[in-house]
Amino acid sequence: MKSLFNEDVRKLKGVGKVRAEQFARLGVHSIGDLLRYYPRAYESWAVTGTIAQAELGEVEVIYARVEEKAQEHVTKNGKLMYTAHVTDGEDRMEVSFFNNPYIVSMLKPDESYMFRGKIYGNFLQKQMFSPMFLKKEKALAIQPVYPLTQGLQSGQVASCVKNALAMLPDTLNDTLPGELREKYELCSLKFALKNIHFPDNEEKLEQAKRRLVFEEFLVLQLGLLQIKQSRSISNSHKVSKDFPQAFADRLGFELTKAQIRAINEALTDMAGDGPMNRLVQGDVGSGKTAVAGALCWKIIQAGYQAAYMAPTEILAAQHYNSLSALLEPMGINVALLTGSSTAKRKKEIYEGLERGEIQLAIGTHALISAAVKFKDMGLVITDEQHRFGVEQRAALAQKGSEPHLLVMSATPIPRTLALLVYGDLDVSVLDELPPGRQKIETYLIDSSKRRRAYGYIQKHLDMGFQGYVICPLVEEDGSGLAGAVEYAQMLKSHFPDSLIEVLHGRMKGADKEAVMERFASGSTKLLVSTTVVEVGVDVPNAVIMLIENAERFGLSQLHQLRGRIGRGSQLSTCILISDIKNEESIERLEVLKNTSDGFVIAEKDLELRGPGDFFGKRQHGLPPMKIADLSRDMELLMSARQCAGEVMEEGYHQPEYRYLRAEVSRLFSGNTEGAAN
Ligand code: ADP
Ligand code: MG
Repeated sequence: MKSLFNEDVRKLKGVGKVRAEQFARLGVHSIGDLLRYYPRAYESWAVTGTIAQAELGEVEVIYARVEEKAQEHVTKNGKLMYTAHVTDGEDRMEVSFFNNPYIVSMLKPDESYMFRGKIYGNFLQKQMFSPMFLKKEKALAIQPVYPLTQGLQSGQVASCVKNALAMLPDTLNDTLPGELREKYELCSLKFALKNIHFPDNEEKLEQAKRRLVFEEFLVLQLGLLQIKQSRSISNSHKVSKDFPQAFADRLGFELTKAQIRAINEALTDMAGDGPMNRLVQGDVGSGKTAVAGALCWKIIQAGYQAAYMAPTEILAAQHYNSLSALLEPMGINVALLTGSSTAKRKKEIYEGLERGEIQLAIGTHALISAAVKFKDMGLVITDEQHRFGVEQRAALAQKGSEPHLLVMSATPIPRTLALLVYGDLDVSVLDELPPGRQKIETYLIDSSKRRRAYGYIQKHLDMGFQGYVICPLVEEDGSGLAGAVEYAQMLKSHFPDSLIEVLHGRMKGADKEAVMERFASGSTKLLVSTTVVEVGVDVPNAVIMLIENAERFGLSQLHQLRGRIGRGSQLSTCILISDIKNEESIERLEVLKNTSDGFVIAEKDLELRGPGDFFGKRQHGLPPMKIADLSRDMELLMSARQCAGEVMEEGYHQPEYRYLRAEVSRLFSGNTEGAAN
């Protein structure tokens, strides 16, 4: 079976070079890929009724006999159309097809077909335009609909899948051993594959889905557990557990209880038997940087180096500024390494790190580059972890010998999802904001009130404060959405006395930094930006944020954006502008008015929009899912998670799990230990 799954799709009848190329675009190369290429939806092909019963505007399935050969005629706008009459014995209906001369020979007079399509016309003369039609014996009650690429039709995919299924032997080597299937009430792989593509009925389809979703979660969980276990060896970078008071004393503020707890939890790990694998999750502004800084200080005191990776140059620069100001006076060498560091500077940093003269390297992905070598890196920190893939986290860690790992995330992932995403990590939560923070007032207005909003901004600029304006686009594209470049230009006439600048992701790193610096220093008053300011940027004097086309952003994203303000002791205001009329969208935005708890917002986002925000954009850095849907399948995730723990305990290396291991290593290709076959 293994070999059949690995065979090229071209082994299938009817799959030649062209078809194989189309499949390749869908990521389908082997027969196994094809069998695992699940339908995105299903169409019901059960007869819905007679022609008389068919409702205008509805999709109906009608079984009817063709009365005569389809006739060609020309429509008003010059297109060729082929029309035939069909009857169910009582009433007649027209079926018409555009530009398809083959219809004439495909629709045979006196033969009966199932026709599926939307009903047009009026109750005297009903019509279907380009309906799908099938002989009754070919029409399954439930027909699969596949995600497609150009030139490939759903029916063509279906017939290739059917051929592939026909080639399967009677019993398949199941990824899930029988005992496990029994315990979790899951059907066999063969049953699942058959019924996910061509279900006999709804019940069997559900059974198939359940099994495949479970399997997908299980594979993912096992992969994560494996990464975790492969690291649990001895701790070669031990630190003492005592609190880094010397560092805390330099901060200029009292650490919150939550920060102290997180630092202590991390230190317990770092003083323990194996290396640390810890996630610090804390809402925007909860003070994760200070936690990271304290741990860097500890590891450096113990004689090792630390690396701190941030997803953008702006963030890296900001961490560099705040941490070097704290650590340099304590005799620690801190370097900033990003893609826009000069070649000369890069070389200096590479040498400094290799010789151990630089103790803390802060930077972007540039830190992963092959030229970067550490003398002895004891701690790796990734900020805004969801922006990095599991692979990137691993790549940085490989620059040391089993260093401690600390990942930090402000994305308030709902607790249930965090289990999946961070299944390989222990978690510390910063559930407390530093004292003295003012609540952020949030308003939702439409564009008729924009001028008043500008007046409000002016008032605050006059008082010496600064503000952000967020646009969904870098430049206008004709869609009617606000573009930051044009918007900034326009604002200059409204605020002629204030320096206004633009920030967006298409700018060069050095330019972005310069803009950020002028904003942080207070000389720029209004910063017009895209979502690049989303994470981490910290300018306490900025107290106003105006967000244009607010409906274009996810709730969690808006919450993150809003977190750029409210960082000082001054009351801050966030103004959402949207002309959307749709009630659901308004309800969604209203959530932000009513709560500032990132977790509540994330749960709401999950409920209203599904997990797209967390998973659609691959924010989690895990392999993509084929069939599991977290808004729907949470219970299966829980049982798969339990199952993964049991499998690990019982002995994942046992022969019965060999096909499961193969799936795990396929999904994490290269990231985990190779499987047995
Ligand atoms: P985030 O968790 O979003 O990364 P930061 O580490 O950027 O938050 O901290 C946000 C701001 O709060 C910074 O200006 C930081 O100096 C300040 N801060 C952090 N911890 C405290 C604290 N315990 N008391 C007062 N201010 C703090
Ligand atoms: Mg941060």
